[in-house]
Amino acid sequence: MIRLPATRKDWFLCKRCQKKLLLFSDIANSKGVYIKCKNCGYENEIIIRNGKVI
Ligand SMILES: [Zn+2]
Repeated sequence: MIRLPATRKDWFLCKRCQKKLLLFSDIANSKGVYIKCKNCGYENEIIIRNGKVI
């Protein structure tokens, strides 16, 4: 049986090229935060509600 950790972390992926841009936890919330992908130059808006990318 796999024991799940108390807090999970997932990668936020670039919406264009799927490069891993940053880690967020399962309690993360963000809106109006932008990250520019260093791989393809696409400006991703990071919209996360309760640990899920919207
Ligand atoms: Zn990209």
